[in-house]
Amino acid sequence: MSVDKFLTEKNINVRAMKSKMADIWRPARGINIKEIKTGLFLFQFYHKDDMQWVVKGGPWSFDGAILVFNTVGNGEDPTKVLLNEVEFWIQIYDLPVGYMSESIGKQLGNFFGTFVQYDSSNNKSIWREFMRIRIKVDVRRPLKRKKKICKKDKSDVIVHCKYEKLGDLCFVCGLLTHTERFCSKRSTAESESVNKEWGSWLRAPPRRAGGSSRSKWLREEDDGDWGNKIDGGTNNEKFSGFQKSDLVQRRDNSNQESAFFSFDGADTNNSEMAKLAMQASQSK
Ligand SMILES: [Zn+2]
Repeated sequence: MSVDKFLTEKNINVRAMKSKMADIWRPARGINIKEIKTGLFLFQFYHKDDMQWVVKGGPWSFDGAILVFNTVGNGEDPTKVLLNEVEFWIQIYDLPVGYMSESIGKQLGNFFGTFVQYDSSNNKSIWREFMRIRIKVDVRRPLKRKKKICKKDKSDVIVHCKYEKLGDLCFVCGLLTHTERFCSKRSTAESESVNKEWGSWLRAPPRRAGGSSRSKWLREEDDGDWGNKIDGGTNNEKFSGFQKSDLVQRRDNSNQESAFFSFDGADTNNSEMAKLAMQASQSK
């Protein structure tokens, strides 16, 4: 079970959101979504694998608003679960040659947020366009954008960070909780010429662009999760708030899951473990 909220000042169309999330996630055992108070939702999954897939595949968003979620244990009050952290894959650019290593990835991850995972399939060569790591971001703090690194030869270099699947954020204060229109800093400023230190450039480009004419059987060095690409992305369907790659990934995954379930036998006792909760902050 998880509690979840969307970081937005807009009102969420609850019915549309429920259908959209269920369609995107396609949990093999189904999902139940309840609004337990305004903007705070309880998502109940009926198998722990379904929930794990959602937890690991995040961040998720609806209509540009990022979903913040946390799991809820048995007997826990979902309204008291803290909802302050979102996991992101980030891409770090302008890293000097020779700095692609897990230990550097950890240090950078703990600077930009809290380090979670090193993507060794992306980061396997000595030189890459970017290093890819997964971090936890505290949504109460502005997003970090860059870091100065002091090299062994004492010269400095600045590395830049881009966030995958980044939804709306405020370009004035760098927070994910609102957009500029609703920014308190901006409304206290006299004119519209507020200095914006954040921008859409923080959004990482999609990793697997659709419409590629390359054979699906041809592998490139960076095809870490090649299997997900099969069946992938040649049409340009638009799904508001979601990236096509999520859907492709989900489709492949659900095949695996149904195969797994048919061998596994019904394991309905796991439904408690597989409940998860979310919350939206538009009430603030
Ligand atoms: Zn703001």
